[in-house]
Amino acid sequence: MTDFSTSSFEMRPPRFEAVSISQWQSWHWQHQNRLRSAADFDGVCQLSDGERAAFDKGADRFRVAVTPHYAALMARSGDCPIRRQAVPHLDELKIQSFERSDPLAEEEHMPVPGLTHRYPDRALLYVSHHCPVYCRHCTRKRKVSNPTTAASMAQVEAGIGYISETPEIRDVIISGGDPLTLSDARLDHILGRLREIAHLDVIRLGTRNPVTLPQRVTDELAALLRRHAPIYVNTHFNHPAEFCRESADALKRLVTAGCVVGNQMVLLKGINDEAKIVMSLNRGLLRHGCRPYYILQCDMAQGITHFRTPLATGLEIMDHLRGRIGGVGVPDFVVDLPGGGGKVELLPDYIVDRRSSEHGEVVRFRNFDGEEFDFVDVAPP
Ligand code: SF4
Repeated sequence: MTDFSTSSFEMRPPRFEAVSISQWQSWHWQHQNRLRSAADFDGVCQLSDGERAAFDKGADRFRVAVTPHYAALMARSGDCPIRRQAVPHLDELKIQSFERSDPLAEEEHMPVPGLTHRYPDRALLYVSHHCPVYCRHCTRKRKVSNPTTAASMAQVEAGIGYISETPEIRDVIISGGDPLTLSDARLDHILGRLREIAHLDVIRLGTRNPVTLPQRVTDELAALLRRHAPIYVNTHFNHPAEFCRESADALKRLVTAGCVVGNQMVLLKGINDEAKIVMSLNRGLLRHGCRPYYILQCDMAQGITHFRTPLATGLEIMDHLRGRIGGVGVPDFVVDLPGGGGKVELLPDYIVDRRSSEHGEVVRFRNFDGEEFDFVDVAPP
């Protein structure tokens, strides 16, 4: 397992041995040298027969792209949490009848193309359908990685126009794909246009670049974000094996640029479905100014059921975190309801009994350690 002090350059696989440090730390070089085919993984890790078959049969369903940086974090052989998230698997081809291509009905709630308006005060603006790494558990496979669905500048402008004409929208999430696949100039333009809208309280940026391409978070990008501060950045670390010096530097740049940084972990079977892994992830993130914000139950998206865990797993993890790490390290465990129902938060049940007494109802709670305590409630007015 890596930590925040080791550079991915030091862990680079034999395929990239001749690469210089300046190439490695250039996000353009990383982007141009992404691994896209089974052959590209020669000298990186040994693919299994199943993984090779998944490349052959599934690449047109959901593309493969892995930055050399992210590939460097992979174990050279055998299973590992990075590999599971980035290398295709034959299970992706098993489509089940209850799965949905658009599980959150984002397309149904589009008043203009490329903008989802589902909650009264919030809107999602899709500015790019590209990502440095195509995560195999992506919930937006229906359009992410598909060049024919990429947002044009005219579409983004129409989305911004809708936001400016809809005063009940107070919070906009710039999403995709990954918005940091855009150039600094284009991002600057979009952020500037949004900042002109007086009724917006919150501008959020959803990006996995601090994990998959941390080199993208340059000093220039940080200066740009500072000009539009405060920007709420939500990133997506799923496992402590994703920690390295480059991601620590990226988080530091974001934090010192005045960004409020949070993490949205997706609960994934065989990757992070153990309390001790989530604890270690959250402690590492907190040390670097990134607040664990959500644990997201994996959606009912097509071809990702092999990643899903029972709801009970998330509740067990929450039960373990509560009391063992300060509240700032305890995210909300949420299910995004299919069909656009929105997010609901799930909590372990801490009430074990209720009984009446002469003073009012006595509620018996259990704490994180299983000890029980009585609390006398007051009667409702
Ligand atoms: S970075 Fe986000 S949008 Fe892109 S493939 Fe991964 S989960 Fe999907």
